[in-house]
Amino acid sequence: MTWPVTATGAVPKTMQAVVYRGANDLRVETLPVPRIGPADLLVRVAACGVCPTDIKKIQHGTVSPPRVFGHETAGVIVRVGARVRGFGLGDRVALHHHVPCRQCHACRHRAYAQCATYKRTGITAGYEPAGGGYAQYVRVRSFVLPGVVKIPLRNTLLEGAMLEPVNTALKAVRRLTVQRGDCVLVAGQGPIGLMFTGLLALAGVRVLATDLMNARLECARHWGATQVVRADDPRGAERIERWTRGRGLDAAVLAVPSDELVQQALAWVRGAGQVLLFAHTRRGSCAQVDLAQVCVDEKDLIGSYSSDVTLQEEVARLVFQRRLDVRSLITHRFPLEQTAEAVRLAAHPTPSSLKVVVEQFP
Ligand SMILES: [Zn+2]
Ligand SMILES: [Zn+2]
Repeated sequence: MTWPVTATGAVPKTMQAVVYRGANDLRVETLPVPRIGPADLLVRVAACGVCPTDIKKIQHGTVSPPRVFGHETAGVIVRVGARVRGFGLGDRVALHHHVPCRQCHACRHRAYAQCATYKRTGITAGYEPAGGGYAQYVRVRSFVLPGVVKIPLRNTLLEGAMLEPVNTALKAVRRLTVQRGDCVLVAGQGPIGLMFTGLLALAGVRVLATDLMNARLECARHWGATQVVRADDPRGAERIERWTRGRGLDAAVLAVPSDELVQQALAWVRGAGQVLLFAHTRRGSCAQVDLAQVCVDEKDLIGSYSSDVTLQEEVARLVFQRRLDVRSLITHRFPLEQTAEAVRLAAHPTPSSLKVVVEQFP
């Protein structure tokens, strides 16, 4: 089946969906195609990236079943609510499942990820809304339409599916106060770490990239890292010292959830430098911190989580004009029925795997 067929309105009554039924339990089931309201869209899913935050929920069973996960989604609009303006049947779109209200106290402070509206997931394939990208069709609720972006014809739907993760990385980069020529460590060169390396390199920042896999360090060079160091290099600290000419790092981005690394990074950044946590999403993980590093040395320990819809246009430009060419990140594509395998691979990366995507049609 190709998209023009369904774009003409021939939407079936039922669809295949991968339903989370408990920890490590994903099942292919038949669900009704979601009904939409007058201000919503129905999108036939073409591609959906496998995201580490979903992997965590699936593996540890941290949320109640049943749900249909998947939120790095691109597809084709097959139904348009009567009140929707600006979108039409057949439009190829990238979706955005969290959009803030832009009016509440949190939003006035630009703390969008803390907004109550933002925390509501606006895209569903049925059950408790959880993104729904591992299904054939999703309902896109009216309140997340401001995040929906049309994909230019020259770009692939796969590129569209990468907007959401790139957005999260750019949001985090914006929290850094670094300047051109500054020295920043990016720890972890998985798909997200490589996006950080690429975005920082585009901003003229010098990146020292670390990882345990040599293949990923090779990729990091390709993405603009000026220096690569194995994460288990016993002389790592010395090499950072030499690379920064004794001044220390201006910032460190931790795209791996290592607690030990938090302490190390705090030691490696200069006075008034920043350590940004991006992968510490599990509650309860603790690290000893010398608080005088924060008070006396004025080092910032900060975090960033999820996306910022106000960056969406800029993200779309970066990706679609290929200044940040994400195509090489996608190394593995699985059909919908093999979503469980896709999740397994993404959870246990190999030297040849980066971004894993569930793809239903090109
Ligand atoms: Zn994600
Ligand atoms: Zn708000």
